[in-house]
Amino acid sequence: MENVAIFDSPGKGRGLKATKEFWAGDVIFSEPSLAAVVFDSLAERICHSCFRRQDKLQRCGQCKFAHYCDRTCQRAGWAEHKQECGAIKAYGKAPNENIRLVARIMWRLDKEGSVVSDMQLITLEELEDHIADMQEDELKEFKVDIHNFLDYWPRNSKQHTIDVISHLFGVVNCNGFTVSDQRGLQAVGVGLFPNLCLVNHDCWPNCTVILNHGKIELRSLGKIAEGEELTVAYVDFLNLSEERQRLLKTQYFFDCTCEHCKNHIKDDLKLGGKEENGVKPSEEQVKEATDYCFQMLEKMDKARLNGEYHEVVKICRECIEKTEPVLADTHIYLLRMWSTLSEVQAYLQYFNDAADYARKMVEGYVKLYHPNNAALGMAAMRAGVTHWQAGEIEVGHGMICKAYAILMVTHGPTHPITKDLEAMRMQTEMELRMFKQNEYVYHSMREAALKNRPMTMMHEPKSVEEGIKNLFHRRK
Ligand SMILES: [Zn+2]
Ligand SMILES: [Zn+2]
Ligand SMILES: [Zn+2]
Repeated sequence: MENVAIFDSPGKGRGLKATKEFWAGDVIFSEPSLAAVVFDSLAERICHSCFRRQDKLQRCGQCKFAHYCDRTCQRAGWAEHKQECGAIKAYGKAPNENIRLVARIMWRLDKEGSVVSDMQLITLEELEDHIADMQEDELKEFKVDIHNFLDYWPRNSKQHTIDVISHLFGVVNCNGFTVSDQRGLQAVGVGLFPNLCLVNHDCWPNCTVILNHGKIELRSLGKIAEGEELTVAYVDFLNLSEERQRLLKTQYFFDCTCEHCKNHIKDDLKLGGKEENGVKPSEEQVKEATDYCFQMLEKMDKARLNGEYHEVVKICRECIEKTEPVLADTHIYLLRMWSTLSEVQAYLQYFNDAADYARKMVEGYVKLYHPNNAALGMAAMRAGVTHWQAGEIEVGHGMICKAYAILMVTHGPTHPITKDLEAMRMQTEMELRMFKQNEYVYHSMREAALKNRPMTMMHEPKSVEEGIKNLFHRRK
């Protein structure tokens, strides 16, 4: 941990600063979790040891709750599961994910002491729990968890005071990090990474954090000077500054005073009207279209949740037709419409349509996001694949290259998704060369390739980016 140091950040309290210069894509530190658990809702579909999604998992014969890829994963996870296994059996069922996580942390601390590795910069006792800041209903749920924890915690494990237990619940509540599957596409669990808890928020941060082979990596998004504070974004920049501040206040208990919030940077673009030949729609027209788009988004979300994809297409089309002439191409509601429509159309295999909307989405994102934002990279990847599927090899290859450049910074060369992208980049490059030499040969070859080895990205359209936009796992 010679790259960073704890310091007192003005107006923010404790923070981390760089002790040397960094460049885009540098790994400032990496850290394994102190403990991590699979979400309740995915307990039977995600391996409890490696957090991979598998179709066929083997159940722990003892508690019948934990699931694993195979014997190897089960053995690797046994040290963490051993006491949990006995506790679940005795309790008669598995408690919720918060309780399971706190218990795993506690067993680990009881065994190894408050500093589990020489890399750990801070003990959990020293981390904030923000219990005093909690709202009444949040506090109520919190107390229910603690009550159930006490029933779950075995008598033969070391006993702790209520203060110690509630502090840990508080720490997990505001610092529990969302653990994604191995490809980083879906949130599958929650874990605690003590050093990461020290990295403060900025809406326009200089770092990003990514889970790679079971460890989180804090990666630099650009040049960082020695002594500069290291920051990550806890909330998505695509929200308006007011909304980001509301989220940060209710979920993380602080007022964001970053430059982008103070100056409402890009808020005008996110809710703006479309300017054409110097003519702008009136404020009322923009407001009317914004409100209408918002209502349609709610309708669309409902249809998508119900899996009524043709209905989603109908709603999106109707909304886009009405609002596209009025709203700016960076309007965040319109962007959500385009994003969803492209995802659903790709799923339904209407690739040309999917490609057009994906391109509009990426063009809007480029104007809003930091050039090395991970969500922008993922969107460019999706758009690239969609263009490839639509037979637009030139644009497709360009987008895939763009995505690759971003992910080399945000995810690094060893991340599974970067490796996928690298393969796609080489494939599309080869195809592009062929296309330029002989279009006819290219098209017949492509058809065969599509039949035999589809470059699949066609999971169900559940908006994969949403899964990775929320850094920390918050109780809803
Ligand atoms: Zn596994
Ligand atoms: Zn078990
Ligand atoms: Zn801010």
